[in-house]
Amino acid sequence: MHNTSYNRRRRIANPACIRSNKSTVDVSKYIHTSDEAPKNAVVYQNNYAFSDLPLDHKLQELITKKGYSKPSEIQDKSILPIIEGKDIVGIAGTGTGKTAAFLIPLIQQLITNKCHNHALIIAPSRELATQINEEFTSLVKGLDLYSTVLIGGTSVLQTLNTLKRKNHVIIGTPGRLQDMYAQGALDYSAFKVLVLDEFDRMLDVGFSREVQKIDRAMKAKEQTLLFSATLDPAQDNLIREITNNPLVVKSTATTHRSAAIDQQVVYTEGKDKFQILKGILNQPVDAKTILFCETKRHANQLLKKLINDSYAADAIHGNKSQNRREQTLSSFKAGKINILIATDVIARGIDISDVELVINYQTPRNYADYVHRIGRTGRAGKTGRAITLID
Ligand code: AMP
Repeated sequence: MHNTSYNRRRRIANPACIRSNKSTVDVSKYIHTSDEAPKNAVVYQNNYAFSDLPLDHKLQELITKKGYSKPSEIQDKSILPIIEGKDIVGIAGTGTGKTAAFLIPLIQQLITNKCHNHALIIAPSRELATQINEEFTSLVKGLDLYSTVLIGGTSVLQTLNTLKRKNHVIIGTPGRLQDMYAQGALDYSAFKVLVLDEFDRMLDVGFSREVQKIDRAMKAKEQTLLFSATLDPAQDNLIREITNNPLVVKSTATTHRSAAIDQQVVYTEGKDKFQILKGILNQPVDAKTILFCETKRHANQLLKKLINDSYAADAIHGNKSQNRREQTLSSFKAGKINILIATDVIARGIDISDVELVINYQTPRNYADYVHRIGRTGRAGKTGRAITLID
């Protein structure tokens, strides 16, 4: 079933004959050979080993247990200033250890001064909030520090109960946070640190009003940490409003167009797009692949066709229940299915190891979305492949 012969070389566009007649994005940006990376890449020289940083020995042990032998570049540049209480705007490529870059110093702050409702971390998707919480939990084992995740699609009663426990860190998506606030179950006034993960998404039109409201209600806020792989210059004023003289920290990897990812485009105009997709999926068969679609409807249609052709696929998007979303993500992580069809809901931040290939079945709305989508592969020092289909 999966061995349709397919001449990839013939179909994949030669960068010399790029046309961008239909796309609003310069298509040449979707093309990059990962082999270029070693030639162009500046090898980052760390300033610190974890043992040089003022981190409690138990935290050091937990970091080692996670297999982190030295700080990634964004961690090297952020951990100390965050411990010292500085505001940060951190720009770091996808999959370069952003989460631990803010969690490690927050945990150190809590070890030094354990107080409830210390940090509020806001993320744009339920999956990302859950993932941040998993990383937090693994970094605080035995430290008597606790967190709660507030996300939509979960039991409100259970959420209300978790808010009654002692919580040092709250991680959530804006909708559920504001629900809990409106019910009087969550009080923002004690939190000292606000973290916006994927902050350019958190500050765009969809979320910015909620985020501003939360920020203003944080009367005791002393520190703001913003992290993302992409930056929108139109948000400068908003960033200035919610931060205080922030240190801008950039990792050099971001200047290399997702260097570790081999990026190609395939023109599908006038051809059978689904057949072309199958050709790509069959080389090699069973590669762990994320397929991005523009809408939930497109995702469902594509899933139907792939299942009909016996592919091991499932789809994740905003219309699925939270339970289904979690099940699908775990099946994909565990390798029970090798194709995950997704809308942009999971394009940001989600860390799934060993995703070999990202296919943009429909082109992303803009280059920032592209960077986040393909950033699901080539993570934590690995290489990956991305193919964008252009109609
Ligand atoms: P993130 O960008 O936070 O999603 O992290 C991407 C991946 O890098 C995750 O799988 C982390 O567990 C991993 N990671 C984070 N920090 C380090 C480190 N210092 N050394 C090795 N891997 C890391």
